[in-house]
Amino acid sequence: MRWRGRRQSDNVQDTRGQGGGGGLGGGLGGGRLPMGPRMSTGGGGLSGIIILVVLFFALRACGIDPMQILAGGDGGPVSGGGQVSEGGAPANDEMTQFVSTVLAETEDTWNGIFQAEGLKYQEPKLVLFSGQVRSACGFASSASGPFYCPGDQKVYLDTAFFGQLAKQFGAAGDFAQAYVIAHEVGHHVQNLTGILPKFNQMRQQMSEADANQMSMRVELQADCFAGVWGHYTDQKGLLEQGDIEEALNAAQQIGDDTLQKRMQGYVVPESFNHGTSQQRQRWFAAGFKSGKLSECDTFNNPI
Ligand SMILES: [Zn+2]
Repeated sequence: MRWRGRRQSDNVQDTRGQGGGGGLGGGLGGGRLPMGPRMSTGGGGLSGIIILVVLFFALRACGIDPMQILAGGDGGPVSGGGQVSEGGAPANDEMTQFVSTVLAETEDTWNGIFQAEGLKYQEPKLVLFSGQVRSACGFASSASGPFYCPGDQKVYLDTAFFGQLAKQFGAAGDFAQAYVIAHEVGHHVQNLTGILPKFNQMRQQMSEADANQMSMRVELQADCFAGVWGHYTDQKGLLEQGDIEEALNAAQQIGDDTLQKRMQGYVVPESFNHGTSQQRQRWFAAGFKSGKLSECDTFNNPI
């Protein structure tokens, strides 16, 4: 990705070197969503998506599935408080510059998309942490991976994750990393459009199986939003040979089935909550190809 020399976001907060946020442990209260996208203009369909999603949830609400909260995963919404460090000015190492630049690119894209719909995009903050962090969603450690906390509208990222992504998950490359950031930003967009709040509210009354199903749709939409962002990035001429493959490979490597096979040697489809490798690739590609939010309706289409 040709990111050098481009604008860097000033929405990055650096808590590294402050000793983290306190104790480890616990999981987040259930509001974290890992991995997200970016775009620039046109594309339309944001309001359409909102209506479709609201409809979908309304229908679900009237019928059928009760559920329970499921823990873990990159998903739900969160509530609850927590003293959160604001962090200081970001360090100036290359990784920080890269993250700040990708975040800025997502800002440009989503500002454009929201504007085209007559809406105002509220840019999220991105918190860099090392080891552990305290968010409005609770404590998190690096082990839980990057996540988005709806409670404070921040993306949390331990950049050491990128090393893990490359070595442990076999997903190297700067555009694989950009995809991760864009996926988390995608969750922020879902938060702004009301999808996340609705999901978090509904999952409380759902069975775990139903919550997992719903979680997958939320996650795959974030992948699609990441793809839409990629579409605009490509249009700006920022992509290099192999970048798309890096993102698709990352989507493949972090698919639920691939992850489970790697970690436990077998697959439990009922527990999938992000989507299979194939699904994640497919939805990223759908957004990337079209650049349209209307192609990201994972709630009213088979996934
Ligand atoms: Zn996610």
